Amino acid sequence: MTSALVLGAGQAGGPLAGALARAGWDVTLVERVHVGGTCVNEGCTPTKAMLASAKAAHVARSSAALGVHAKVQVSLPEIVDRVQGIVKTFRDGSAAGLKSAGVTLMYGVARFTGVREMDVTLQAGGRTTLGADYVFINTGTRPRWPAVPGLDVVGAMTSDALLHLRELPAHLLSLGGGYISLDSRSCMPAWAAASRCSRPGRVCCPVRMPTLQTRCGGCWKTRGLLFTWAFRREEPHAGVTRSVWPGGMQAASRPR
Ligand SMILES: Cc1cc2nc3c(=O)[nH]c(=O)nc-3n(C[C@H](O)[C@H](O)[C@H](O)COP(=O)(O)OP(=O)(O)OC[C@H]3O[C@@H](n4cnc5c(N)ncnc54)[C@H](O)[C@@H]3O)c2cc1C
Repeated sequence: MTSALVLGAGQAGGPLAGALARAGWDVTLVERVHVGGTCVNEGCTPTKAMLASAKAAHVARSSAALGVHAKVQVSLPEIVDRVQGIVKTFRDGSAAGLKSAGVTLMYGVARFTGVREMDVTLQAGGRTTLGADYVFINTGTRPRWPAVPGLDVVGAMTSDALLHLRELPAHLLSLGGGYISLDSRSCMPAWAAASRCSRPGRVCCPVRMPTLQTRCGGCWKTRGLLFTWAFRREEPHAGVTRSVWPGGMQAASRPR
């Protein structure tokens, strides 16, 4: 029985566990995959590190107007390795911080079996049971596979998988125009243009977002990212349901 059991080593769980341990609590932190959670491993850190490379490629490519003529060659494997190197440094730093604060770090998936009792399936194999006076739940966020018919047969990937892509796809379509989609996707045109890929890709937004369109649309268009403001119609095609976006890439009508 410990005084505190923290589930999830994300942006909230890690610092909380450290603070409680430094205040003299007996703390066990259970983490399903890796310390740092989404922000460090799949979110803020890797996407911003990747965007830095995209920005460098874009500036180098568009410098001819300023009289600077650069030959740009993009190596996606090198970019991914650099990004993952930064992620590892941050992750290891967070794990070391927890250990030096006196937190017992356990890797595994936790589930409740009683009011303050947990069963943990350990990453290294086996199981253990834990009890605590206080249980703090910080199981955070993870990609959700949307219910789009046919998605499972077309080789779709999540934003997590995109961060490990070592080969530029011939064409990439992002479903949804939220910040995660735009964050991850806006890198691709920079790689594509530099490697002379002719079809940098599109972002499909299910709804029209005037602010996004005004502030970001023009900027991303110059970088080769195309927006489709679209609604979906489904039709059967070769055994799967094909989604069709009426109006094509430059659909101007308001989605219904
Ligand atoms: C691509 C992307 C880009 C982003 N960019 C930004 C940005 O620039 N700025 C910004 O502010 N935010 C950004 N975010 C959002 C940010 O990452 C999240 O808001 C933040 O990480 C949420 O923190 P959290 O502590 O709530 O959860 P998380 O960081 O998700 O941590 C939850 C942890 O719980 C663990 N866990 C889950 N279930 C269990 C279980 N049963 N047992 C044990 N452990 C479990 C998970 O493995 C995970 O480590 C981005 C997100 C994504 C996906």
